[in-house]
Amino acid sequence: MKITRLTTFRVPPRWMFLKIETDEGITGWGEPVIEGRARTVEAAVHELSEYLVGQDPRSINDLWQVMYRGGFYRGGPILMSAIAGIDQALWDILGKSMNRPVYALLGGRLRDRMKTYCWVGGDRPGEIVEGIHRARAMGFDTVKMNGTEEFARVESHAAVDRALEKFALIRSTFGNTVDFGIDFHGRVSLPMAKVLLRELEPLRPLFVEEPVLAEHCEQYAKLAEHTAIPLAAGERMFSRPEFKRVFEAGGISILQPDVSHAGGITECVRIAAMAEAYDVALAPHCPLGPVALAACLQVDLVSHNAVFQEQSMGIHYNQGAELLDYVSNPEDFRVKDGFVAASEKPGLGVEIDEERVVAASRNAPDWRNPVWRHADGSVAEW
Ligand SMILES: [Mg+2]
Repeated sequence: MKITRLTTFRVPPRWMFLKIETDEGITGWGEPVIEGRARTVEAAVHELSEYLVGQDPRSINDLWQVMYRGGFYRGGPILMSAIAGIDQALWDILGKSMNRPVYALLGGRLRDRMKTYCWVGGDRPGEIVEGIHRARAMGFDTVKMNGTEEFARVESHAAVDRALEKFALIRSTFGNTVDFGIDFHGRVSLPMAKVLLRELEPLRPLFVEEPVLAEHCEQYAKLAEHTAIPLAAGERMFSRPEFKRVFEAGGISILQPDVSHAGGITECVRIAAMAEAYDVALAPHCPLGPVALAACLQVDLVSHNAVFQEQSMGIHYNQGAELLDYVSNPEDFRVKDGFVAASEKPGLGVEIDEERVVAASRNAPDWRNPVWRHADGSVAEW
């Protein structure tokens, strides 16, 4: 079997799909994207296609190494996202060629269904209670929300109280019948992270994500000494060498590699195994589309330490398209009692409605995250 063509489709809300075709008529799909830089990743995918066209798509390990090592420079969000989406499509082809799900080719699944959660409250957290009611109606019992809006390096007590109010409201409204994670989103400085973690602890969040920016990962161990709340991070780390530093520094309880950013299924299965050796749980990041989610589920189903799977149903970014708009088998992604069941379909288990993808790609918007500023005019972390 030989790869004949790679075609990319940028589509609303902020995703990109990759179709890899072969001379035997088997087609694989991937989702190579970094949110807000889809065109840059798209260019990287097409540059990497020089290594792929004419090759056997089933030689995934070799092709992965060629893409990773063959260009001398490596790593980072753009190159690793391009490799990630290509890798997903290659696994999809391999699975379809053998009429087996990808997880079966990775040694078989070790769980029947995967715990999943959704977002509530948007970029500027509000309407949390309504959001949780909506999430429950969709089958979720676990949610995540942003911790703060713009947050100064040293912030006022009023801003701290504003951040805490909504979490207290969740507990007073729902008691212990809902679990919630809190994403600090890298908006919070080290000293304020210590304050917020201390104040949040009585409200018992499931975890706090990116308590400080990933580039300050050596601080996670110090923060972990201050709090019993599990700390999570990983969406802005892209390869084993980066994750290695986090494991060595310590402090992270839940690792969140993104299977569309960190080298795909091939690399994320290895990252998951590294995490397991450090007794760190796995919760793949996925505020993306259906191919990315299907790829994450393959990793979850073969990783003993996988605890939660993020997914984008109802997320505030999904303007113009929803998670399952481009798939013909939405029933395979339904959430029941907080879980999504393992699919028996071959490959990634996602059936793409190609006509819909092609039509949507004609007017794809260039999504960008907002550029926020503090009260004094300086740029704030979003
Ligand atoms: Mg996050």
